[in-house]
Amino acid sequence: MKFHLEASFRLSGDASCALPDLADLFQGSADILQKGAPVGHGARLADWRLEENQIFLVLDSDKYVRAHDALLRLRRPLAQMLGKKHRIGVRGIEVTRFEIEVESNREISHKIPYVNKIDFEDGKLRLLLDVGPGGIGEAELDGRIPDRIVSLLEEKLADYGGKGEHWELLWESPRRMPIFDSDPTEEMVKLGWIKHGSSRGQWIHGPESTHLFRTFERIVLEDMLEPLGYREMIFPKLDTWDVWKKSGHALGVYPEIYFVCPPKTRDPAFWEEVMDHYKVTHEIPLELVKEKIDYPIGGMCYAQCPTFWGFLQGMTLPSNDLPIKVFDRSGTSHRYESGGIHGIERVDEFHRVEIVWLGTRDQVLEEGERLKEGYRRIFEEVLELQWRMAWVTPWFMAQEGKAGLSEMAGAGTVDYEALLPYNGNWIEFQNLSVNGEKYPKGFTVKSQSGEPLWSGCSGVGLERWASAFLSQKGLDPDGWPEAFRKRLGKMPSGIRFL
Ligand code: ATP
Ligand code: ZN
Ligand code: MG
Repeated sequence: MKFHLEASFRLSGDASCALPDLADLFQGSADILQKGAPVGHGARLADWRLEENQIFLVLDSDKYVRAHDALLRLRRPLAQMLGKKHRIGVRGIEVTRFEIEVESNREISHKIPYVNKIDFEDGKLRLLLDVGPGGIGEAELDGRIPDRIVSLLEEKLADYGGKGEHWELLWESPRRMPIFDSDPTEEMVKLGWIKHGSSRGQWIHGPESTHLFRTFERIVLEDMLEPLGYREMIFPKLDTWDVWKKSGHALGVYPEIYFVCPPKTRDPAFWEEVMDHYKVTHEIPLELVKEKIDYPIGGMCYAQCPTFWGFLQGMTLPSNDLPIKVFDRSGTSHRYESGGIHGIERVDEFHRVEIVWLGTRDQVLEEGERLKEGYRRIFEEVLELQWRMAWVTPWFMAQEGKAGLSEMAGAGTVDYEALLPYNGNWIEFQNLSVNGEKYPKGFTVKSQSGEPLWSGCSGVGLERWASAFLSQKGLDPDGWPEAFRKRLGKMPSGIRFL
């Protein structure tokens, strides 16, 4: 990896008087430019010259002290010397040329921010960066933009046939003979329990299906959340970019989100043309609507827990109040599943109970085990499912578009999977994650003791529970496990049609 940077320091006045001092400083600059790098590595000042109130520099480096870091390292000693001895200030940095060279065995066609041109030659990618106004300048150097460009490039190069999602079996229930072998969605439709909603991957749940969902929810509440001392909260269901920047979703969630756009104004006159068009044609003029709505402010709820963290953001939590345990079941989640939608198993609009807990690392890991035990009892003793648990790529990494496993020991995701007898596939019906310090850090939440805060979350997917349960047990309540029938009570009658 090589960096070539041409830049200048702008001064408050003509520094000709300081020329000998400048020569001293720059000739002795090797120490500064190679500090921390292995011997023979680091940055090198290839050239410099003074022109009245501007000092032009040419810096070359390898990856150890990158040329832009080298430039920033020079700023302070230069300012000190010029200020003290000559009463001249350093006013700013201007970049006139910036090239990065990275070893690679292939070309790359990605559009990378601030990169004007990428050439591939002799096993090297040569990047020419955009400099000057709108391009790389002092603020971008201070903001570590060049390093992020290099990381992004490395990510793209590594991505090529890269490692897949991790999956490792942790536990498996005894085999249980299914008493049903059809697609439960088709059966629910036949019995009139559900009907397609008007939007893609959306269902209208009739009284029977709703009662089933509410029973699942009540079991989670009564058997786990209440005994374990969870408190219910209401998390917002519109996630702003700001939330997704902090949660990490801004790194990769775009292909799956439903974007939310406000109107440019709520002035009825501004919208009159749209209304009138509709009145005459009975069609919505979508092109016109597109012109009249503003940029998306974010998207509809995707992962449920990120918006919770706004409640704690910037706060310090009393040690005695840890661990904090809450849950939300106040609304829908929405994902654009594209061609993947299937029945109620994979939908664009779904319902979950989201459980969130936080505390010290030990508290969070212990609580995770208590929840796992609670789930195990429900799936074994109440629902009698054929199910299994797997250690998988942590959800926060998956949702940032990453594969593999977390580097934080103990942090990670357990997927709960159930067999669908009608097609022989295993479906992920919920998961449980210990997210390490990620969220407390992302939203700057601290503990009184100063000990690092950890958190965990678990999303109980009601559509997926229903798919798992119904596909193994069928739709006739008489065939359902006794313990579950007790909790279900009387199935409400459905809506009839003539
Ligand atoms: P999948 O691999 O099946 O797409 P995921 O990894 O995207 O799942 P997570 O992001 O971990 O799922 O979401 C947590 C839970 O939310 C899932 O275990 C599941 O219960 C539920 N869920 C996610 N996507 C859907 C969907 N499209 N339809 C119904 N439930 C869903
Ligand atoms: Zn979550
Ligand atoms: Mg998914």
